[in-house]
Amino acid sequence: MSQSYEFKTEVRKLLHIITHSLYTNREIFLRELVSNASDALDKLRFAEAKGEEIAAAELEPSINIAIDKDAKTITITDTGIGMSKEDLVNHLGTIAHSGSERFLAELAESKDSASNIIGRFGVGFYSVFMISEDVTVTTRSYKPGSDGFTWKSDGLGSFEIIPAENAPERGTVITINVKDDAAEFLEKFRLERALKQHSSFIPFPIYLDGEHQ
Ligand code: ADP
Ligand code: MG
Repeated sequence: MSQSYEFKTEVRKLLHIITHSLYTNREIFLRELVSNASDALDKLRFAEAKGEEIAAAELEPSINIAIDKDAKTITITDTGIGMSKEDLVNHLGTIAHSGSERFLAELAESKDSASNIIGRFGVGFYSVFMISEDVTVTTRSYKPGSDGFTWKSDGLGSFEIIPAENAPERGTVITINVKDDAAEFLEKFRLERALKQHSSFIPFPIYLDGEHQ
C-alpha cells in the first residue's frame, strides 16, 4: 500500500529553485549523496560502539556507485544505518528544516550559486533533483527485524512511501533517473572526476562500477 505525502512548504520552494534554475556545478549532487552515505556509515559505527544490536553485522562498510547507461540511472548504495519509515517521512520532506529557510534567504543575498552553498544548510539531499527525472530511496534500518521501504518522488509537490520487497539487508539504495539534459553524469569519467574533486576524504571505501576509487 502506497502512501502519499506533501513536501513541507519551504522544501517545496527549495525544490522549485533546484529544479528550475540550477544549471551550474550540478556535479555536487554526488558530493552530497556520498556525504550522506558516509554519515550513515559513521552513525552505524557509533551504534555498534555503544553495543547496540546491528542487523547483517557481517556486511562491510562501503559506498557503491553504479551507472546503467541503457536505463539512464545512477545508483548509490551504502551499508550504513538505513532509515525507518518515520525517518524517511521526517528527514526527506516533511520536517520544517530551518535549513531550507536559511538557504533561501542566503541565496537571495549571496552572489554564490545555489549549488555552492546548498550543502551547508542540511538540505543537501535535494540537490539530487538538479539531475533527476525522479529519485527512489530504498532503505532498511540497522535495527534487527526492520521492514524495508521505498521513498519515491519527482521533486515537485509530493513523495510517496511504499513497503519494499527489494530492500537491502541493511542500509540505503538511491536510484536516480537521470534527466536527458544531465546525460553527461552517466559517463564514468565524469563521476570519477567529481569524486576526486569533492569526495576525496571520505573514510570509507567507495566503488564506482566495481572499481575502488
Ligand atoms: P544533512 O545531511 O545535512 O542532514 P541532507 O539533506 O543531506 O541533510 O539529508 C537529510 C537527512 O536524510 C539526513 O540527516 C539523514 O537523516 C537522512 N539521510 C539521507 N541520506 C541518507 C542515507 N544514505 N542513509 C541514512 N540516512 C540518510
Ligand atoms: Mg547531507
